[in-house]
Amino acid sequence: MFDITIIGAGVTGCAIARELSRYKLNICVVDKEVDVASGTSKANSGIVHAGEDPMPGTFKAKMNIRGNELFDKLQEELDFPFKRNESLVLCFDEKDICKLEELRQRGIENGVPDTMKILNREETLKLEPSLSDKVVAALTLPTGGIVCPYELTIALAENANMNGVDFFFGREVQEIEKREDHYILKTNRESIKTNIVINAAGLYGDKINNMVSNKKYEIIARKGEYVLFDKAVGSMVSRTLFQLPTKMGKGVLVTPTVDGNLLMGPTSVDIEDKDNLETTMEGLNTILDKAKLTVKEIPTRQIITSFAGLRAHEVNGDFIIGEAEDAKNFINAIGIESPGLTSAPAIGEYIKDMIVEKLNPKKNENFNGIRKSIPKFRELSNEERKALIKKDPSYGKIVCRCETVTEGEIRNAIRRPLGATTIDGIKRRTRAGMGRCQSGFCLNRAVDILAEELNVARKDITKFGSDSNLLMENE
Ligand SMILES: Cc1cc2nc3c(=O)[nH]c(=O)nc-3n(C[C@H](O)[C@H](O)[C@H](O)COP(=O)(O)OP(=O)(O)OC[C@H]3O[C@@H](n4cnc5c(N)ncnc54)[C@H](O)[C@@H]3O)c2cc1C
Repeated sequence: MFDITIIGAGVTGCAIARELSRYKLNICVVDKEVDVASGTSKANSGIVHAGEDPMPGTFKAKMNIRGNELFDKLQEELDFPFKRNESLVLCFDEKDICKLEELRQRGIENGVPDTMKILNREETLKLEPSLSDKVVAALTLPTGGIVCPYELTIALAENANMNGVDFFFGREVQEIEKREDHYILKTNRESIKTNIVINAAGLYGDKINNMVSNKKYEIIARKGEYVLFDKAVGSMVSRTLFQLPTKMGKGVLVTPTVDGNLLMGPTSVDIEDKDNLETTMEGLNTILDKAKLTVKEIPTRQIITSFAGLRAHEVNGDFIIGEAEDAKNFINAIGIESPGLTSAPAIGEYIKDMIVEKLNPKKNENFNGIRKSIPKFRELSNEERKALIKKDPSYGKIVCRCETVTEGEIRNAIRRPLGATTIDGIKRRTRAGMGRCQSGFCLNRAVDILAEELNVARKDITKFGSDSNLLMENE
């Protein structure tokens, strides 16, 4: 019997798990996929929003502000890529400058530090020389940042696991039985008995809620497509560049990623199929067209890939966080669309406070909030590289040439807590396969290492679990 079961190992579920691991509680996280960050948390803009956009008083506004504040300390503790690079909201028409001032005021009301400024055209172009000539003014958001969304999620999960939280993958919760004082979660494998359920199931949060509560929710998948550019043009802009927001979201942005690429997107289209991550020619053309307003030139020859993410849009528009009125001990953290990545640390804290009030649990005296990432060979000095190779010669063998990822890093990614079991798992933990050639050279070697470490045949290695095998049979 678990005290608490969290459904969903995305950034929301993992942030909650890590916060709760500060207490002596028997906790597990279940996910239908084979790894953490397999849902929306793997494919988004990776922006730590300042908090000027959500409507004052909403959960989105409160969690965004608090989440943003928590990022520096969290990075210190969990060692994931994050940088405060400042965001700019750009204005292209003199008559819209008042909208920048409205955003600034809304930001102040939400609690964004009052360091935001409205710049004129010359001041804006001085900051970002690649901007298009159409820019007339900009609002600066100095607390805006960029983060690697899957590394953040992995770091939260690893640390929760180090502190005693169990993770069960490949378990889809298919039915929930409400008993007198506990719940039974029926999965495609075993059943899980638990006192408290926390629903952090992303796009399927409505389905999970509707299994238990009569207050029904509806979550719509809102697709966002992106274009990713090679690191060769990663420094074309240094800040995150937004256009003035619309009803459908924060529009198409142009931003450096924290790993040094250039990113443009997302689109915003409601779709029926919650698993449809296809990119389309129409979507890509829309991005390039809209981004032309922001920057003078689009370096199309440097595009290395495209991808899509799905926002979990609840029709009422705000995050749904709290205990269901008609189901004691069933707690929702759903409808977590943007700024959900930014808000995750705050949602974790908020739900931890709810549980502490409910159960008054003892502190976990052994809690250790520090987690170290895999050494990144590409970022080390030659002295540090030599020392690492001396300790473990596998750090002397480069596997991914585009991203300079060594065999040592890949083996470390597989062996650590909640280690990689798939090619995508290796990719997200080390960046092997994320460079210009998109794994053309290193995939074969990564399959070999994974098969060796897991002691399975090469043909059993998958890209992301289920039937995503890469090879038909052993050669
Ligand atoms: C295009 C786009 C851009 C965005 N940009 C930003 C941004 O720049 N900044 C920002 O702050 N936010 C951004 N967001 C929002 C952010 O990505 C999300 O809010 C966040 O990732 C949601 O995390 P989550 O853990 O709630 O959901 P998810 O990451 O989707 O996790 C839910 C998990 O639940 C599991 N699950 C579902 N059903 C079941 C079941 N029945 N049984 C077991 N497991 C189940 C899934 O497998 C999944 O792993 C963006 C989102 C999109 C789509």
